[in-house]
This record gives sequence, structure tokens and C-alpha cells, in this order.
Amino acid sequence: MLKRKSAIVTGSTSGIGLGIAQAFARQGADVMLNGFGNADEIEFTRAQLEREHGVRVLYSAADMSQPAQVRAMAQAAIEGFGHVDIVVNNAGIQHVAPVEEFPEEKWDAVLAINLSSAFHLIKAVVPQMKARGFGRIINVASAHGLTASPFKSAYVAAKHGMVGLTRTIAVELAEHGITANTICPGYVKTPLVDKQIADQARAHGIPPEQVVREVLLSHQARKQFVQVEELAALAVFLASDAAASMTATAIPMDGGWTQH
Ligand code: NAD
Repeated sequence: MLKRKSAIVTGSTSGIGLGIAQAFARQGADVMLNGFGNADEIEFTRAQLEREHGVRVLYSAADMSQPAQVRAMAQAAIEGFGHVDIVVNNAGIQHVAPVEEFPEEKWDAVLAINLSSAFHLIKAVVPQMKARGFGRIINVASAHGLTASPFKSAYVAAKHGMVGLTRTIAVELAEHGITANTICPGYVKTPLVDKQIADQARAHGIPPEQVVREVLLSHQARKQFVQVEELAALAVFLASDAAASMTATAIPMDGGWTQH
């Protein structure tokens, strides 16, 4: 479905981003991976994707909190693939604390990685998307882009900002064949959430299973985690020609959380 397309997926060494990168490669797209992790494991994943799907896969270690590195990654992908058709702004971190105790440096880091990096990457790739009359910008926000939870001031602010940024560029770029949409997942069992389960179990003094059911999934009507594969399939659809008229949306895939 994505043959001869090329994509950058930020934060794709783990979790949702990795699932999206794998699904894109399976559909025939060249992909630039990005994110932190063990160098040997990343190289294994990169080479395996190339081998299994007959596509080109590059890797950038760019730190999404550093605008110059975001721009350099975009440039490397444009030069490496010849063009970039699809960007998925997915890299993200979390920090949970009462607002009056929220460390300033954590606020800055969450905003930089979860929101500003998307602006810098979009700015860097849009000129060549406009020139080619085609582009797909897929931003991974969260159910927290649409609703709030206590103690997550930076994360909720960044994710709401991501929804606003996406809507704005969508209407701005609509006549250039470029779409922009936000995916708003509920809880997905990735390393980011595993850490929260362990932290909450310690904080509440309850077993991890109880944290999952009574804390994390309390609003998620389906009472099950969203699957990485489900989100990846949605990203493939949004990247496809079939989604040409779908733009400026914020799509919840949250087991009913935000409509509860
Ligand atoms: P994860 O921790 O499994 O993956 C995060 C990825 O981002 C990793 O590849 C990591 O290396 C990368 N990353 C972190 N900081 C970076 C930086 N400074 N520069 C470059 N890469 C960096 O997390 P995940 O659960 O897959 O989350 C992916 C996205 O989905 C995030 O934006 C997150 O907010 C969002 N999300 C997750 C859930 C969930 O329940 N897991 C729910 C809603 C939204």
C-alpha cells in the first residue's frame, strides 16, 4: 500500500513507534528509524526490516529535544531516500507529579520532546512535500490530547498542543495534497506504561493487576489495553491514498475512554 513512499517515524526504537515503522516497512515504505536504545539491538532491527521487506531502512540517533538534531535527521532522510512523504511524530516521554512540585526541567523536556520536536520536523519536511504535492503528517498525541488526568500537567499540555498544531497545519497545507491528523491512543502496554504500572503499584501499595484495572483502565470502557498493531494499522491507513480527504482530525483509539 505504501510502495515507493518514504517515512520518518520518531521514537521508533520501542513501543508504538516501532510498531508503526514495522507496519510501514511491511507495506513497502522506506523508513527512517529514530530513538534511543542499545546500538546492537537497533542495528539488528534495522537490518531485519530491510531483509524481510526489501525496503531501505535508515537510523538516526537524533535527540528530539534538540531542534538542530531534528533538522539534521530530516535532511539525512531527504538525502538518503530522495524525498520524505510521511512523518510520524511519535517520540514522547512522561513525568507525573503535582503541579506545585513539578520540576521545571521536566516540564521543559516533556514540551520539547512531545510537542516542539513535531514543529521542527514538520517545518523541515514541508517544503519538499509542497514541491511534490503530497504529504502525510501523522502525530501521535494521546487520549490526554482530548481530556485530562491529575499530575500530568506537562504531558496533557503537550498533547493538547499537538492536537492544536495538527489542526492548524492541516488547514494551512490542505491545498498542497498534504494531510495532518492526530492519533489519540488510550493506554497501550509499552515500556512507557510498564514503568507507570510499577510506580503506581509502589505508590498505592497494591498489586500491578489492580493498578491496571482500577487506575489505568478505569475510564477505558473496554477494560483492555489498546494494541500497538491496531495503532499501526490506523497509521498505515492515514498514510495511504485512501485517506486523502481525511485531515485535521484527532482520532481517539482508546477503548471508549474519552466518550465514557
Ligand atoms: P516508549 O517508551 O515505548 O517509546 C518511546 C520512544 O521515544 C522510544 O523509541 C524512545 O527511545 C523515544 N524517545 C524518547 N525520548 C526521545 C528523545 N529525546 N529523542 C528521540 N527519541 C526519544 O513509549 P510508547 O508508549 O511507545 O509511546 C510512544 C508515543 O505514544 C508517545 O508520544 C506517548 O506519549 C504516546 N502514547 C502512549 C500511550 C501508552 O499508553 N503507551 C498512550 C497514549 C499516547
